[in-house]
Formats: sequence, structure tokens, C-alpha cells
Amino acid sequence: MAVNLPLYSRPLYSAYDVVVVGARAAGASTAMLLARAGLSVLVLDRGRYGLDTLSTHALMRGGVARLARWGVLPALRAAGTPPISSVTFHYEADAVSVDVRPGDGVDALCAPRRTVLDPALVDAAVRSGAEVRYGFEVTALDIDVEGRVAGVRARSRRGPDVAVRAGLVIGADGVRSAVARLAGSVVRHRARNTGAYVYGYWSGVTTRGYEWAYRPSAAAGLIPTNDGRVCVFAGSSPARVGRGGREVIGALLAEASPGFAARVAAGTVHGVVRTFTGRPGHLRQACGPGWALVGDAGSWKDPISSSGLSDALRDAELLAGAVVADALGDFEAERDRRTRPLLDLADRVAGYRWDATEIRALVRAMSDAMRDDVSERPRSPENAVRR
Ligand SMILES: Cc1cc2nc3c(=O)[nH]c(=O)nc-3n(C[C@H](O)[C@H](O)[C@H](O)COP(=O)(O)OP(=O)(O)OC[C@H]3O[C@@H](n4cnc5c(N)ncnc54)[C@H](O)[C@@H]3O)c2cc1C
Repeated sequence: MAVNLPLYSRPLYSAYDVVVVGARAAGASTAMLLARAGLSVLVLDRGRYGLDTLSTHALMRGGVARLARWGVLPALRAAGTPPISSVTFHYEADAVSVDVRPGDGVDALCAPRRTVLDPALVDAAVRSGAEVRYGFEVTALDIDVEGRVAGVRARSRRGPDVAVRAGLVIGADGVRSAVARLAGSVVRHRARNTGAYVYGYWSGVTTRGYEWAYRPSAAAGLIPTNDGRVCVFAGSSPARVGRGGREVIGALLAEASPGFAARVAAGTVHGVVRTFTGRPGHLRQACGPGWALVGDAGSWKDPISSSGLSDALRDAELLAGAVVADALGDFEAERDRRTRPLLDLADRVAGYRWDATEIRALVRAMSDAMRDDVSERPRSPENAVRR
């Protein structure tokens, strides 16, 4: 769907109920839900439609359930995203396979490339009535005399800078959130450990659904995705991952799972092997007068949890529900209640100091922590009273 280029030549309106900064998993979902609830929503992103980003992209059950509920799943399937029917955990001595249980609108998991997932969410937001503009970098917030955020200022890549008034500004602008910084959001909690990751895309690698492997000092994963490729990642401490590259991923794969290493060696790598050098988890203050944060902007956990995207979709639903019900103050406590257990577990795994027994218990506990997100449905913004 063409969403943006023609819009560059049109003037922005001067005021919206909500301006969302960031048009990926968190921002596009929040905008879609708020637009469906009848609010006027503008989304600004400094990037471009369909651009890739640094992320593997395994969705967990809660994420897939929400995409099904929102009607976004068919677009992912139409893009050839393969269904994932089982998850296998490999440990030193053995492997445990779990089949995906049908229910909650989920018959399989999936791991769409970000070049597929993010545009599908943006398209759904636009279809729902949100206005999405790329090439606008938010550089300042307007604060009214009472200290309430009342709008944004954005630098345009193509035209004049803009000032837009908003009843609420939502920062969905990622871990280095400008909205968080400009609004003075306080860091409520910071994790201690930092894992680092290398990943790339291979064809010709056989997998049985998602496969994760854990051995002391290293972890690895195989994630089937679009175009017949498998996203292969390996993780360890930042010191061991260093600057990454093919040799590093090869060595870490061999350490985490010799079986993975042999299967990957039989395949063909496409493009570069990317490196994420690590960042400790955080929970930031989620909202204040006239502003709120969603997705990585407010809550970040080590990627070993493979849950940042699914949590961003969940928090979009929680935030949109709170906005529409005029109960923004409830959002932070609910986000934290759902986020903190997994954040703490991911922090322990990201230390890469566990032994074979402990990692089994940690992985089990992470799976249990994610289960809550499927069974308890938050208040749906589409069912809430309109403002
Ligand atoms: C190596 C790695 C592996 C990962 N693997 C997984 C995984 O397997 N599964 C999973 O669920 N999660 C994974 N994650 C986490 C996941 O990528 C994030 O949780 C997810 O990207 C969060 O989405 P978001 O919309 O909050 O932020 P982002 O995806 O970071 O999007 C933020 C958007 O804001 C825009 N923006 C930023 N600043 C401004 C500004 N000032 N003005 C306008 N626009 C702005 C950016 O252009 C961007 O489009 C991984 C992360 C990493 C780094």
C-alpha cells in the first residue's frame, strides 16, 4: 500500500488528538488502535516505509494472538511468512520440543522480517484512519504554561520544519527515545547484564520450527522467516562477541550447538552478518502530563528473551486502552506488572554465567512469564467508550 510519498506534498493539519513518534511495531500498532477508537492520529517517523532494522524477529504467542485479533496476520501470511508449529530447546545433554497449541486465534507462530511486519502494521494503521508521515524527525516538544506536553516540533527531510499540537504525544521511538529524553522520563529500573548478538540470513538450513540452544557461555537460535531463509543468531558476552562477523558467529554456533553449526555450514549465507553489541534492560517512567512511552522507548529487555516485539504489541494495546478510557495513570503499573518478571529473567540469562542446570530453569521460567500475556486479555480499546 502506498502510504507516504504523496503525503509529503500535503500540509500537515496543525492539531491532532494524538501524535505518535515512531512508525514501527509499537508506534504503528498504537496508532492503529487509537484511530480505530475514533481519535485523530498523526504518526511521524524519521525513517522510510519498509526499511529494515537491527532485530531478529521471532514472535511469541501473545504477539501472534494480537496480530490475529487485529486482522494483520493475513498480510504476513500473504508475504510468505512461514508458520512455526513447534519450538525446540537444545541443552547440553538433550532437547525438548513443544508443539504450538492451537487457540487464542493462533494456529502457529511466525517470525516475519521487519521489512514485512512493520509495513503491515503501518498499512493497518493507515486503513484505520491514522496519518503516517516519514522523513520527519521529532527534535523538540512544546510544553504549555502548566508544564504539560502540548505538541511536537519536527525537522523535515524534504520540506520546512513543522510544529504540530496534540492532546497526547506518544514516544514509540525506540531505545534511545528522544521523547523520553525531552519529556524528562525517569529511568525506574536498569538491568545489570548485557548480552551481545550476531545474526544473519541463510538459505538451505533445515529447521524444525524455532530452535534455541544453550550451553554455558553461549546461546544460539534458528528462526525460519520470509524468502525461504533462516535467521541464525548466536549470543554471548559483549567481550566474546566483539565486533562480530562470520568467524565469530561460526565459533559461537559451534560452542552453543555443534548440530546447529553443522546445519548452518551446509547452507548459504545471504548479505552481511550483523552485530548488536548490547544494552542493559530498562524500564522508564511510562507517562506524564501530555506524554506517554510505548515499546522499547519505555521498556527494553535483553534480546535473548525474543519478546521485545510481542511486548511492544501488548503494550500498544494496554496504552491505547488506557488512553481511550482516560486512565493513562494505570498504564505504567500494568506494563511493569507484565514486563518486570521477564526483564529480570532475561537479565540473568544475558549475564552468560549460568550452568546447564540453571539455564534450563531460567528458560522454563521465561516461557512461564510469557504465558500470562496470552491468557489475560487487557481491556480492548475498540470496546472502550470513545472520548
Ligand atoms: C539484535 C536484536 C535482536 C532482537 N530479536 C528479537 C526477537 O527475536 N523477537 C522480538 O520480539 N524482539 C527482538 N528484538 C527486540 C525488538 O527489535 C524491539 O523490541 C522492537 O524493535 C521494538 O519496536 P519499537 O517500535 O518499540 O521500536 P523500534 O523498532 O526501534 O522503532 C522506533 C522507530 O522510531 C523512529 N524514531 C526514532 N527517533 C525518532 C525521532 N526523533 N523522530 C521520529 N522518528 C524517530 C525510528 O526511525 C524507528 O522507525 C531484538 C532486538 C535486537 C537489537
